[in-house]
Amino acid sequence: MIGTNWIREQGMQDALLVNALRKRGMDDVPLWQRKFPKRDAAMKHWNDLTPRRDGPVNPERVEVTDLAVMNEDIKHRAREMGADDVGMTALRPEFIELGVDLPHKNVIAIICYEDYAKSLEGPDEVDLEAMSTYAKCADVATDLAEYIREDLGYPAVAHHNGSFQIQAIPVFYEVGVQDYCLTCNLCRNNCPGDAIPDDYITTEGIKRWLTDIDKCYPISRFRESYCHICVDVCPYIHKENGDPEKKSMFGQYMKIRKEEGYKTPKGER
Ligand code: SF4
Ligand code: SF4
Repeated sequence: MIGTNWIREQGMQDALLVNALRKRGMDDVPLWQRKFPKRDAAMKHWNDLTPRRDGPVNPERVEVTDLAVMNEDIKHRAREMGADDVGMTALRPEFIELGVDLPHKNVIAIICYEDYAKSLEGPDEVDLEAMSTYAKCADVATDLAEYIREDLGYPAVAHHNGSFQIQAIPVFYEVGVQDYCLTCNLCRNNCPGDAIPDDYITTEGIKRWLTDIDKCYPISRFRESYCHICVDVCPYIHKENGDPEKKSMFGQYMKIRKEEGYKTPKGER
């Protein structure tokens, strides 16, 4: 199956980032200039996993007699490896990078939760928790792909921060994650830069709230400590919105952010 979707380049290859820097007479991203060895270690970890993304497939294949049982086995294995949630759907060309040919029929999406309590320790810890969780996702994806190839005898490739040709967001949309966004709005209400629009656009049947880079980056990447508020308030991390302990944690977290120089968030929480 040949991919039809353009994947936005990362780092200084990202044209939108470079444009936002140029407009401000900047030539680099302050956040990235900071010495942050733990973050570098997480990045090294997922890059080191890249050679294990793909490998030989066991010729003695486990025959699928009951698809539901096989699906449950794979989900169970993924959870044992560290995933907090797992979903599956059919692979579609719009999930795949433009022009890349992948021989697979299905895609498995895994979720690993960040520790919400890290938000109380300030933006650096939030950033590090995010990077550590990306590294954990890379571990689970790598181990699961190996399990499918070596134990079950089917081809499988891990896509993670180290290297990928599948876009995560359209896949998660397909497995139902975005339904909650239609009534949630927590990220938009709490964004200190008003960078998340009220309205979405629809492309290829997928709703997208296009973050305004020129409003977001001066508050996130162009400072020396990260923003990340939109992610921290997301119920997929802050799952128990009705839990009094988590609510009080959220209040403390926003106080710390104000002390870091963020304005009071607008809207209801
Ligand atoms: S990182 Fe901060 S400024 Fe950027 S969209 Fe998220 S909450 Fe808004
Ligand atoms: S906070 Fe999370 S669930 Fe809520 S609208 Fe934003 S992305 Fe969607």
